[in-house]
Amino acid sequence: MAKSCYMLIDVNSAFLSWEAVYRLQHGETVDLRDIPSVVGGSEKNRHGIVLAKSLSAKKLYNVKTGEPLVQAQNKAGNNLVVVPPRHGLYKEASDAMMNVLQQYSPVVERFSIDEAFLDYTGMEMLYGDPVKTAYIIKDEIESKLGFTVNIGISTNKLLAKMACEFEKPNKVHTLWPHEVPSKMWPLPIGELYMVGRKTEEKLIHKGILTIGDLAKCDIVYLKKWIKGFGELLWHFANGSYPESDKGGTAFFQGALTHETDSKAKGIGNSSTIAFNLETKSAAYKALLSLCETVSRRLREHNFKAQVIHVGYTTSEFERFGRQKKYLSPTSSTQELYNRACSLLDELWDMQPIRAIGVHATCLTSSENTQINMFEIESEKSKFIDCTVDNLRNKYGSSIIKRGCFLDEDISHMLGGSWGNPTGNS
Ligand SMILES: [Mg+2]
Repeated sequence: MAKSCYMLIDVNSAFLSWEAVYRLQHGETVDLRDIPSVVGGSEKNRHGIVLAKSLSAKKLYNVKTGEPLVQAQNKAGNNLVVVPPRHGLYKEASDAMMNVLQQYSPVVERFSIDEAFLDYTGMEMLYGDPVKTAYIIKDEIESKLGFTVNIGISTNKLLAKMACEFEKPNKVHTLWPHEVPSKMWPLPIGELYMVGRKTEEKLIHKGILTIGDLAKCDIVYLKKWIKGFGELLWHFANGSYPESDKGGTAFFQGALTHETDSKAKGIGNSSTIAFNLETKSAAYKALLSLCETVSRRLREHNFKAQVIHVGYTTSEFERFGRQKKYLSPTSSTQELYNRACSLLDELWDMQPIRAIGVHATCLTSSENTQINMFEIESEKSKFIDCTVDNLRNKYGSSIIKRGCFLDEDISHMLGGSWGNPTGNS
């Protein structure tokens, strides 16, 4: 069997680069990437955050991704150009990159809007050395699409991901298992995948300063101290996954799933919000918006889902997720939303949320669904869903929206317009 080989392709300052390329293509002469600039969400509400920054915004003014926009503007004075996010554009750019990647492997998995894993296992026979190919892919993306990427290469997704984070931008890095001690162990512990600021503080407090320190720790001690998460991090520090999850699938599930035709994969949607979600009402609203698009796609394809998964990424880039199998499958917006909310309630410790997703799997055809005695989907809710779908199909997504979305801090159908010609963007 061929040795496994994965690449992680990550767009450098994605939102900002994509906006810059778009502007250059439309007659703009200044490249946003060459000046202090940021993509910032929701300026008018004052709780907007920096979603992406240019290199010079970072170097000259120490602007950081995730910090409040107001704070960034205070640092940089009038010298900071702020552009609003444009999600329709991001999806187009992301799709264009996926098209390039798919030429080099049949297995390309979108990990987030600006990152994708490419399974290069066995592809050497066709395209040769992975490092050489990575350079070709990187240069092809830059010349065809106008933006740069980093590519990390290794035998598993975790190490490819870690390699991708090495020096940026426009670089190819390897992190083969034999390179782990020299390239990964000297790094500060905070740079290990899934180590957020809180965990970092905990570990540093115990004298674990580098990834190498953690790798050499006693796993029994770690398990006693920080439970399963400690064990997981220990494996990561050693460049592997726990025995129970050899493929690392639980940790590297695509954050974005738009494949509406894939029964096995299910139908899902997730979105980075323009500001951190810090209250239940804001988080519920984001869930409702996602459920609107997911349930609409379920109905469009005549599916009902039995398993609902809710996942989120915190402002510290830690990911959490929970799923549940329900007795009765559903495609009702209201029911999907109720289930998503109860899953979030079980999961969320109120750490600020940056990105959130709802995923429906275990799909059955609507026609084959048995009528359950406790059928939750009343005729009334079916009628409402059907009427709303028809209106949106005919007049576009914005023709009808729930009252709670009128203040427009969260789009009423997150990701809903992607790939939908009648939708707004
Ligand atoms: Mg990126």
